[in-house]
Amino acid sequence: MWSDSQIVLYWIHSSKRLPQFVSHRVTEIQQSAPSTSWRYCPTSDNPADLLTRGLTDEQFNANINLWMHGPTWIYNQQQWPTWHHSSVSHLHAVAAAAISDEFQPREKPPFTPGLHQIISVSNHSTLSHLLATTAYVRRFIFNLRNLGCKYTGPLTATEMDIARTAWIRDCQREVYWKELSSLTSTSQNKKWLPLVRQLRLFLDKEGITRCGGRIHNAPLTELARFPYLIPPKHPFTALVVLSVHSSMYHTGVIGTLTAIRQSYWIPTGRQYVKALLHRCTTCKRRSGKPYSAPDPSPLPKTRTLDAPPFTITGIDFTGALAIHLEVLTDLSTETFLLAFRRFVSWKSLPTVVMSDNASTYMSAATELYNLFNSKTLATSLERQGVE
Ligand SMILES: [Zn+2]
Repeated sequence: MWSDSQIVLYWIHSSKRLPQFVSHRVTEIQQSAPSTSWRYCPTSDNPADLLTRGLTDEQFNANINLWMHGPTWIYNQQQWPTWHHSSVSHLHAVAAAAISDEFQPREKPPFTPGLHQIISVSNHSTLSHLLATTAYVRRFIFNLRNLGCKYTGPLTATEMDIARTAWIRDCQREVYWKELSSLTSTSQNKKWLPLVRQLRLFLDKEGITRCGGRIHNAPLTELARFPYLIPPKHPFTALVVLSVHSSMYHTGVIGTLTAIRQSYWIPTGRQYVKALLHRCTTCKRRSGKPYSAPDPSPLPKTRTLDAPPFTITGIDFTGALAIHLEVLTDLSTETFLLAFRRFVSWKSLPTVVMSDNASTYMSAATELYNLFNSKTLATSLERQGVE
């Protein structure tokens, strides 16, 4: 197999992690032919280029041998061009990849032993749960090493604090290993990474990266002035955000962010917190709008027609045993009381009258109550009168 694309040859021979799009295709190529069968052919000797680039008949005649028989050296294995994948710089390949695909050149960190190897953050739904697990694991290890004095009983606040610090250090080492190595490097001409400069990062005496900022002299706690740096999109950070959020009684993005900044600094934090809180089910239940009923449909034509009474008739069953209809000229209390009096004279005096809270009924009830109460009629009437 021959190719004049050094980038592709580099990809086929490479053991480094490639962008996903490239990686899929390289795997396919590697499955159809072993990478050792791939060789380099200089572009000038590549007969396939004659076809793909196009040429005049004179140029074709000049190159007829290349087209018909391939490069002259191809029959003699000793003359095959030598090429080694290390001759292409990694940077070159990465640059080519970046053009063709969205490639994140965030390299994998060097292997770091840490908490994440024995405890999985994503198996814990709350920060306190994670810290308790971690504290128990640390206690177990301590007890194994010190058979003389064993820790027992409920976890102490100090043990939880040590667990928290351990996790912060662990996720910093996992994500900000470059920044860390630049901070610890003692070389004279070390170059500061953008994040280190921007956040004025420094290492505290416990070896945890903290942000400098400009509020050294503010009357705040030491942690608020120099918060811990924690990476966005890390499962540990997600637990921190959610725990602060629920301890603040599910306050919004700004409230949660302000509370987080009392101890932590998350780069691009607002965006991350916003995305996380969007998924908080408690908030969603409280702020979610109820399902809105569709708009009522327009009235049918028969109900908007001008027609003599009963031309169009609706029929339905009703559970009422008796009804009484009164035509009222307006909604005033006097008119209602007159109608009510007509009803009482015609039918009978009810012992209980039920109504909704329409203001006409309410003021009529007050009026009736005052009327009978002031005349000190029998108390039974008063009790039965108006409800
Ligand atoms: Zn919430």
